[in-house]
Amino acid sequence: MARRSRPDRRSRVPRLLAWGLVLALAGVPALAQPAPPSVVVNGRTVATDPPASFQGGVLFAPLEGLLEPYGARSEWDPTTRTAQVHGPRGTRVVLRSGDRYATVDGELRPMPAAPQVQGAKLLVPVEFLFRALGAWVKWEESERTLHVASQVLRLVFEPTPGGLRMQVDATGPVQVRTTSLSQPDRLVVDLVNAVSRIETREVTLGQLGVQRVRVAQFQTKPYVTRVVLDLEAALDVEVASSAPAPVLMLRPRAAAQTTGPSAPAPSAAPFQSPTPAAPPSPPPSPEPAAGTSGPRILEVAVERQVGRIRIVVVGDRPLDYQVRELPDPDRLVVDIPGVFVPVKQELNPGGPVEVVRAAQFQTDPDVARIVVQWQVRSRYEVVTEEGGNRLVVVVDELPVAVARGGHLVAIDPGHGGKDPGAIGATGLVEKDVVLDVGLRLREALHRQSVRTVMTRETDVFVDLADRVAIAMRSGATVFVSVHANATTRGVIRGVETYYLRPHSLLLATWVQEELGRSLGIPDRGVRTANFKVLRDSPVPAVLVEVGYLTNVEDEALLRTPAFRQRAAEAIARGVARFVSHVPAPQP
Ligand SMILES: [Zn+2]
Repeated sequence: MARRSRPDRRSRVPRLLAWGLVLALAGVPALAQPAPPSVVVNGRTVATDPPASFQGGVLFAPLEGLLEPYGARSEWDPTTRTAQVHGPRGTRVVLRSGDRYATVDGELRPMPAAPQVQGAKLLVPVEFLFRALGAWVKWEESERTLHVASQVLRLVFEPTPGGLRMQVDATGPVQVRTTSLSQPDRLVVDLVNAVSRIETREVTLGQLGVQRVRVAQFQTKPYVTRVVLDLEAALDVEVASSAPAPVLMLRPRAAAQTTGPSAPAPSAAPFQSPTPAAPPSPPPSPEPAAGTSGPRILEVAVERQVGRIRIVVVGDRPLDYQVRELPDPDRLVVDIPGVFVPVKQELNPGGPVEVVRAAQFQTDPDVARIVVQWQVRSRYEVVTEEGGNRLVVVVDELPVAVARGGHLVAIDPGHGGKDPGAIGATGLVEKDVVLDVGLRLREALHRQSVRTVMTRETDVFVDLADRVAIAMRSGATVFVSVHANATTRGVIRGVETYYLRPHSLLLATWVQEELGRSLGIPDRGVRTANFKVLRDSPVPAVLVEVGYLTNVEDEALLRTPAFRQRAAEAIARGVARFVSHVPAPQP
């Protein structure tokens, strides 16, 4: 922060908290040089020449060779310096080198940075382009990888003369894998390289003996959306066409046919009624992929209901269990003794649950472990169903959803335009760093369904007096100002969060806690200061100093996209926790 009044008073507020953070920091290893980034599209690592790289905090890659795994194609015309991208569903994106605006289906859309020519190739902002094509995009800092996958938008069931037609409506290519299971009869349709955006997780169908259709994100990396059809009797299935809108034809199984999974049906038998007579009970057949003969977990699935998430663990016998709560990260550990997990699973239910992992914790004796990692710690209960064969963690989602829905977070990147803010030890400029962190913070909050407004999103000068006013006009309920600090003493480094009024203390505490935990630079704690934006703000407000530009080590970190991303995500976690716990004021 530069060009501001010195704080009236600086005081370490929650002493206990600061101690906790010091201890936590002691375990943080020295930061290594970040690995080069990679891009994985629908399960394939794209190998472009030159490879993907960060420029000014934005991930760039050559257009050539980037889009094929997503079923898109492009044309680059060096004379007009224009590229045309054709998405798998007909979306048309026009990009021009040096132009920060793209045209997406005829509409102008700002990009985080302009495409640029390198050699004979056009380098494009990767995240923006895939998002424009409707893809699921997620940057995994721990893997230094941008994951891109198709999204499943809906399933359409339609009766046909021969049976039932199931169409998958996806934004890009998905692979279809089918498995028939018996006792009870089910058809499992796995959509590989697909992230489910289907809101309704369960519907009653009642056509062609299909009683129920359940949809869940079965696993990630590769992303698999699992559709389970609960059947009155076995059906034959044929995948009639593929990407981006695969069609499956379902037909009653001919009584003579008792073959295994996914046998194509030569079905000559006309479809007679919506509920055909069940064939004589088929001989009992074992579940496929049986690992061991011992007791085991058959399935871990996520079911969404209004206001609730049900994490369902299905065993082949009554399950015993023990539940513990653990911190850092906040999580719930459910140990199930005496059973085996044949397949390791990772599910992303969204909402208050960051991730659910199921794996074998130990063998001999067997203990299966289910970990429910919180995005935001929520009310839950553990219940058993079906005589104890089903163990269900029921997570209350509603209060979180309502609180987040009501909040609007103002993001205020300091300085801008003619006001550069602080200048770093080797010349890094505060206004540039904090704008980038602010834009990343916006992305991070959006991923957590938190609405935002920015006081500036480009390199423009905004008067200090206008910043809070801009936020309040938009109806902001939380104000977060992002700065990088400066001092005449170059040895001082670290991250600190300022607040002024008591109603901002909780927000400041949680934001600083996350920053202290994840940045690996000294935690200088929560402090008070009479900054104008904090004084002006009628809503909870904090000012974050993400490091000291005047310290060469902090400055070197602040130059890296990885550090900026970590800072943005840490602030976002703190803010998300606050908006989930503290209801928004009624308008
Ligand atoms: Zn500043």
